[in-house]
Amino acid sequence: MTYAKRFDGRKPDQIREMEAKIGIIKRADGSAMFRMGKTIAIAAVYGPRELFPAFLQEPARGRLKVIYDLLSFSVTERKKPGPSRRSTEVSMVTENSLEPALNLTKFGYTGLDIYIYITQADAGTRCAGINAATLALVDAGIPMKDLVAAVAVGKVSDKIVVDLNKEEEDHPDGATDMPVAMMPRTGKITLLQLDGSMTKDEIKQALEMAKKACQEINKVQIKALKEKYMEAEKWMTT
Ligand code: ADP
Repeated sequence: MTYAKRFDGRKPDQIREMEAKIGIIKRADGSAMFRMGKTIAIAAVYGPRELFPAFLQEPARGRLKVIYDLLSFSVTERKKPGPSRRSTEVSMVTENSLEPALNLTKFGYTGLDIYIYITQADAGTRCAGINAATLALVDAGIPMKDLVAAVAVGKVSDKIVVDLNKEEEDHPDGATDMPVAMMPRTGKITLLQLDGSMTKDEIKQALEMAKKACQEINKVQIKALKEKYMEAEKWMTT
């Protein structure tokens, strides 16, 4: 069987429809929502704030902590609330993918916490989470070297595609999923995972697609930030 036409009619290099919103959680220092098709992530940033217990404090750098989880109602069958092996792993890779964009040495003794919750899951949730968290960090006023944009690329049956949805991940012929995060200005990759198998050439082709898709995601992120700050500017001048 070949995968001639994508289930939702997208072109191989076509990302799902995106939406981004900044400042969605009033009590957080920074927050954002990022939607990729039917996958929705919200992120809230708290800090940098004094870190407790004090023995965790490091004078030379702030401590970044990411807590990622799928909410119980985000998937078709209720997901048991609370952390799991999967959420611990996704939290860790998300931390690693965001850290290169930050300068934690400026925030000695403090902790910077990012909560990422998936309200609706249709594959690619770690990537949507990274896209939301990046915006929440900017909203919190954290200086950043670049934004981080993330997308999953991969192979569905015999076809290399970008931004797989759940139906594609569950293709009867099998699917390979490769989440990628990068800092679009330099092209530096901060997350690269591979669930499945692809040849060297297929990986190269998928990475090219990811690079292009991350540029598009970056544009949506910048647009959302501009919208938020234009609003603030209006408010200040009236
Ligand atoms: P990602 O969401 O980053 O693609 P995975 O490959 O681990 O990460 O998960 C793929 C998709 O499988 C998720 O986006 C979600 O739609 C679904 N999924 C993951 N965990 C569960 C779960 N506990 N119950 C139901 N669906 C899940």
